[in-house]
Amino acid sequence: MSFLSATLDRVKPSPTVAMTVLAQEMKAAGKDVIGLSAGEPDFDTPEHIKAAAIRAIEEGRTKYTAVDGIAELKSAIRAKFARDNGLEYSAAEISVGTGGKQVLYNALMATLNPGDEVVIPAPYWVSYPDMVRLGGGVPVIAETTLASGFKLTPEALEAAITERTKWVIFNSPSNPCGAGYTKLELKGLTDVLLRHPHVWLMSDDMYEHIVYDGFEFYSPAQVEPRLKGRVLTVNGVSKAYAMTGWRIGYAGGPEHLISAMRKIQSQSTTNPSSISQWAAVAALVGPQDGLAANAGLFRRRRDLVVAALNEIDGITCPVPEGAFYVYPSIAGLIGARCPDGTVIENDEVFCIKLLESVGVAVVFGAAFGLSPHFRVSYAAADDVLAEACTRIARFCAELE
Ligand code: PLP
Repeated sequence: MSFLSATLDRVKPSPTVAMTVLAQEMKAAGKDVIGLSAGEPDFDTPEHIKAAAIRAIEEGRTKYTAVDGIAELKSAIRAKFARDNGLEYSAAEISVGTGGKQVLYNALMATLNPGDEVVIPAPYWVSYPDMVRLGGGVPVIAETTLASGFKLTPEALEAAITERTKWVIFNSPSNPCGAGYTKLELKGLTDVLLRHPHVWLMSDDMYEHIVYDGFEFYSPAQVEPRLKGRVLTVNGVSKAYAMTGWRIGYAGGPEHLISAMRKIQSQSTTNPSSISQWAAVAALVGPQDGLAANAGLFRRRRDLVVAALNEIDGITCPVPEGAFYVYPSIAGLIGARCPDGTVIENDEVFCIKLLESVGVAVVFGAAFGLSPHFRVSYAAADDVLAEACTRIARFCAELE
């Protein structure tokens, strides 16, 4: 009898974490490595949020809380959904978890039965397919193309839906490609879903506030109110407020789903950290002007990276609408040879050789379900990004 669960055979460890660890090991060994593989803002959590957490500790708010969130946080989230997304939820329709990741996970665990299909547009955030597999479901990958701006078309969505489809997981702006859907593009997708009443939509709005060039963010339940009864709108404080380590994510959705998610959470983590919840209240009700300032900072970096990468022969880098990633194609470099004779057969080889040769850590496209690409996280200082692009150019120039 095997000691380890067969569940483990269904999932793989996160490749983004693996690349980050490899880069850290090289750094620890004294190598000069620039890490652009991690998906988190490089600036600190704002002071007023930290102060709220310190106050929570001092006031003794350090005990178990209600399973899926303190009343004060739920009311801050309700106000946020109304303010930013025009979505009205009751407190019973709000769930708070240990990061958006746990919220997504709870929802899948609470709803999937063996063989249930979940449509996931590619390129996708690495965790979606594995979370679906953990829940016994079957990920159905709907590929997009660089030519369509990595956006799922209504036709591709329609083609991916079967009678076994339970969920569509939707993420705009997207990790890893930064694609953001306009209101009209969203409407095209929600129209398809209106025709399939058995299909639910999980909208991962984690990068809502990191958008550029006047892009207007819309959430699907806002665009199509008739779908709201089968949409879970997921968000969190990690990316918007530089709070990745605090682990607070949340969702709004129909009460029976939210209460099923609460049941799962009650038997796993009980509740998210009380201190982090108070910090998240401060993030959501406090001043919001930092959001636009951060987006401006990220836009400058996006422009820097896109321009530098497009200078390189063999690389094509589209301009993303949001998030802090670019997802360039290396189609022009497949088959090229490194000075040591290694052939760039695919994007994984490209990324490993790039790290070994010039010390730049990025993540290969296969990890996100669409090759041949790589993901650069540009949540780093301008000079670091410029140096990384110079090194990528040097690496590519040496390929034959
Ligand atoms: N969704 C997307 C698309 C992400 O990129 C991430 C983090 O990388 C998450 C969800 C999870 O964020 P967290 O669990 O920190 O809230």
